[in-house]
This record gives sequence, C-alpha cells and structure tokens, in this order.
Amino acid sequence: KYILAIESSCDDTSAAVLSNAKVLSNVVATQEIHKQYGGVVPELASRAHQQNIVPVVHQALAKANIDKKQLSAIAFTRGPGLMGSLLVGTSFAKSLALGLDIPLIEVNHMEAHILAHFIEDADQTAPKFPFLGMTISGGHTQIVKVTDYFTMEVLGETLDDAVGEAFDKSAKLMGLPYPGGPLIDKYAKLGNPKAFPFPKPKVDGLNFSFSGLKTSILYFLQRETQKNPNFVEEHMNDICASVQYTILEILMDKLQLAVDQTGIKQIAIGGGVAANSGIRSRLREAEEKLGWQTFIPKFEYCTDNAAMIGIVGYLKFTKGKFTDQSIAAKARYAIGS
Ligand code: ATP
Ligand code: FE
Repeated sequence: KYILAIESSCDDTSAAVLSNAKVLSNVVATQEIHKQYGGVVPELASRAHQQNIVPVVHQALAKANIDKKQLSAIAFTRGPGLMGSLLVGTSFAKSLALGLDIPLIEVNHMEAHILAHFIEDADQTAPKFPFLGMTISGGHTQIVKVTDYFTMEVLGETLDDAVGEAFDKSAKLMGLPYPGGPLIDKYAKLGNPKAFPFPKPKVDGLNFSFSGLKTSILYFLQRETQKNPNFVEEHMNDICASVQYTILEILMDKLQLAVDQTGIKQIAIGGGVAANSGIRSRLREAEEKLGWQTFIPKFEYCTDNAAMIGIVGYLKFTKGKFTDQSIAAKARYAIGS
C-alpha cells in the first residue's frame, strides 16, 4: 500500500510517500520568510504553503518513484495548528483524493508526533504499550499516557508557553534569530549550566508553566546589561547553558512524577525540542540511573514532517479509519478526541 501524506500545520510544507510503515520519501520545505519577523506570521505562512504544496508533493512522489495513480490513500494533518496553514493542506488532500477516487485519512498532528516512533526505519525499536509520550514542541508541552495507537490520555500539559516557545523567546531576549532553540542548544554545549541559577515554577501535578522563566530571564538580562552593556555577548554560552539546564530540570521533574504516578518507565519523546542534545543526554542518564527505557525519534522525524502523518495514515488505513469529503480543518484539536 502506498500512502501520500501532507503536513501544513505551521510553517513547514511537507509531503511524504510511505510503503506500508516504510518511508520512501519525506520532503520538507521550511519557510525562511518568518526569520526576519522573529516568529511565524500566519498570513505569510498560509501564502507560502500555497506556493510550496504542489512542488513539494511532486518531489515526494518523484523521490519515491511512485506515480500518483499507484496511491492507495491520502493522509493529511487536520489540526491542531494555524487555521490558514491547515486549510491549504486539507483542501489539497481533499481535492487530490476526490480526483484520484481514493480514501482520505485525517491525522491529529500531536498524535503523529507521538506515533512517529512507529516509522519502520526509525533508529530504535518502537516502545511497547503502555508508554508515556512527552510531546515537546513549538506549540505544545504534554505528557500523554499511550495505551494503544489510538487510545491516548493527556496527563498534564503547559498552562501557558510551550517549551519550544520558552527556548525561542529566551533566545530572542538574547538577540538570537528565530527559531532560537537550536542556537541555545549549540551555545549551551560550551557553557556552564550552573553559571546563572533561574527559579523553577511551582506548578502542582503534571502541568507545566514556562512564562515565569521567560520573565525572570528578561529581568536578569536587563539588570546585568545595565551594569555591563556587553554582558550577553560576553556570557552567551553560560546564559544558554543555564537557560537550557533550567528548562530540562522542569521537564525531567515532571517526567519523574509521571513515572511515579503511573508506574510506567517507558518514555517516548517527540516534537521539535526532542532534537535538543541536552534532553537526549538527560534521558540516557535516566536509563542508567533510574532504569527507564527511553525512545527518541530520528532527528528528521522530531520537527514537523509528513512522514509522521504518513505512519498514522498507514495505521489508520489498516484499521479502515477513513474520513469523507465533509471533513474540515480544526485549529484546536485535542489528543484523543
Ligand atoms: P506543534 O507541533 O506544537 O504544532 P511546531 O510544529 O511549531 O509546534 P515543532 O516543529 O515540532 O513545533 O518544533 C519546533 C520547536 O522546536 C521550535 O520552538 C524550536 O526552537 C524547537 N527546537 C528545534 N530544535 C531544537 C533544539 N536542538 N533545542 C531546543 N529546541 C529546539
Ligand atoms: Fe509539530
């Protein structure tokens, strides 16, 4: 079975072709236009998707060496995401499925970030059910109990900023370009994580909060640059290491609590922040010290990509979970709904 998958929830236009659970191609067009604005501009994202979608789908088919007539189904991201962006992928998928007279499969983007672990050529073997999924991305921060492919329960989530936003907004305060997460990761490797202590938020249970951290970084930088205008440039590595350390402490504390509460020691992370090298080493450490089993998708399946939409498409295809032409994009779309 060949499945074409389309992802357009935010600022990456992506198309993938899967043969069952195997990825034949996964093309991602990242929109560079947003860099100059320091964040994603929804209207520009939507327009760029319109320009990219046809060439990206063509490339995915060409790379997979598949003709569109060979496709068995089309999977697409229905939500959550930016409405204008979702509409482009949704309408494209619907019209192509109609034209080819093949089934349509709708996919929840956040469930796809979790199920990316089941892509056949992923580095590691997939986690066994039940496991804890932690989605750490630009728009979400959730701990999810995954009982089955399609049985997921959100145990906790952020009450304000997502962890990716915490990285990006902190980076912006330091004058780094968008998206700043990967840059903080890069500089943090050269710095001292204990150089500047930042307070951790006090949030009960498995929910997260990151907006207070952003504020304390802002005040800290204002105070220090008053004393020394070159403070940020001179201490970039140490600031990045300290910010990243605090963020990782927050994530690891909540994971520990989730493991204590559920007794589940299999942890599978997903979302763009899963690309962070610090979280990767903290999880490896937890494997050794706490006996956890941890799973991290390949880098290209962490950030937004259509391959993860395709794997969910394949899983739904095998269960006959199709949708019809009346389907509409959904900007707010909860996991497990
Ligand atoms: P969502 O999936 O919630 O809709 P999104 O699709 O915008 O959000 P992703 O593409 O999954 O998010 O992830 C993007 C985020 O990941 C950005 O905030 C980016 O800074 C962050 N990120 C990417 N690489 C790293 C890294 N190495 N370290 C820290 N953060 C990173
Ligand atoms: Fe995403």
